[in-house]
Amino acid sequence: MSREKTTEFYDVAVIGGGAAGLTAAIYSARARLKTILFEKALVGGLATYTNEVENYPGFPNKPKGEDITNLMKAQAKNMGVDFKLTDVKSVELHGEEKTIETFRTTYKAKVVILAMGGRPRITKAENEEKYLFDKGISFCATCDAASNTGKTVVVIGSGDAAIEEGMFLTKFADKVIVSVLHHEGKMDCNEIAKEAALRNPKMAFVWNSTVKRFEGEDHLDTVVLKDLRTDEEIPVKCDSCFEFIGYIPNTEIVKEQIKLTRAGYIITNEKMETNIEGVFSCGDIRDKWLKQIATAVGDGAIAGYASEKYIAESETFHDVILQKEKPGLTFIYNAVDAESREFLIEIEKIENHFEGRLVVNRVDIYKSSGIADRLNVTEFPAVILTVEGKVKERIIGQLDSQKINDMLDAICVECHNK
Ligand SMILES: Cc1cc2nc3c(=O)[nH]c(=O)nc-3n(C[C@H](O)[C@H](O)[C@H](O)COP(=O)(O)OP(=O)(O)OC[C@H]3O[C@@H](n4cnc5c(N)ncnc54)[C@H](O)[C@@H]3O)c2cc1C
Repeated sequence: MSREKTTEFYDVAVIGGGAAGLTAAIYSARARLKTILFEKALVGGLATYTNEVENYPGFPNKPKGEDITNLMKAQAKNMGVDFKLTDVKSVELHGEEKTIETFRTTYKAKVVILAMGGRPRITKAENEEKYLFDKGISFCATCDAASNTGKTVVVIGSGDAAIEEGMFLTKFADKVIVSVLHHEGKMDCNEIAKEAALRNPKMAFVWNSTVKRFEGEDHLDTVVLKDLRTDEEIPVKCDSCFEFIGYIPNTEIVKEQIKLTRAGYIITNEKMETNIEGVFSCGDIRDKWLKQIATAVGDGAIAGYASEKYIAESETFHDVILQKEKPGLTFIYNAVDAESREFLIEIEKIENHFEGRLVVNRVDIYKSSGIADRLNVTEFPAVILTVEGKVKERIIGQLDSQKINDMLDAICVECHNK
């Protein structure tokens, strides 16, 4: 018998339980927002695959990734975050109320935070799955270079990431052997990186090659390359293999709705706002320079904080600016601009004149532009007149108090006669 889907309501829905999502949830729950976090695999995300994290501040003893994210999880639970271990199948992000669909339940939320991370692109060569992450195949030189000190590593790829990370690896490893798809001297990276790599005595190149398979007992010890011209196998003994052939952001459920870069990452501003109101994004899924736990945590903090500001502002906008009881006057000014500041005196006179018949709000655009954005006001000073929760008049730029008084007189007579 099929069970009918139930609906649950939240202030904030976080999709993705990695470092970014967990932090965003901690911040939003701490701001007393009813918060739910969805995770389809392991709470902790990609970091749980790392055996030693050396570069996350505050943890000097090289903890496992999951030791760090388990603490984040415990903290989120203490804050009252609801965890839902399920795959989010689809979302509807437009509109004031967002919808999140899982197999059994529909969730509605005022804010959605997209923190689904990504996954490294893999070669799909034979036996690859056997050695992924801590068994010899790595995707992160920043994370795993130090444990390859004095060793031989293979790098797959010749783009900017591959060559720059390969160069970084030469500071630790004795030998960095790079498998390049193209003929001798051709790489996909920038010219400067290419020249530097070709000059680096620790780097060697296997041109016209691709990966055929991976070999080793419990741990990878050989990458078998294939010469693309001759089909000949080239076994390369090594201690680790670093694959840098791209990263796939997990945007499948949002890619039709949200603005992405050409490479498929979510575009945000520094407040982690996406192109859709009330939708924020943080961590590896967004377009950013450094993908690490520390930066995921920073992004998450901003997204959680920004959610609280967004919800508070929405409430002010609906309950105060667009109140329906009386005609409203909203004055938008900039506190650091003398001219618009001086008009505050005129607004006070208007408020006194219409005492009891008008709701007056003052919005300092210098402190926050959110309310002005919602009213589509980009310049100041501006006066917005509302009647029954709808914008009736907007006066932007040169303000004339007599004109405003006349308009309000007409509006108040109209309201009085209704
Ligand atoms: C092997 C490896 C080693 C690393 N080592 C280090 C290191 O030493 N130091 C460091 O700082 N960084 C390291 N990193 C990078 C670090 O792990 C990431 O930058 C960080 O985990 C990003 O966090 P995130 O929350 O943005 O994404 P993720 O950790 O990827 O979390 C995203 C979560 O979203 C979930 N998800 C996706 N889609 C859905 C859906 N539809 N419904 C529900 N859940 C969904 C995923 O299951 C995942 O758990 C390493 C990365 C790798 C791959």
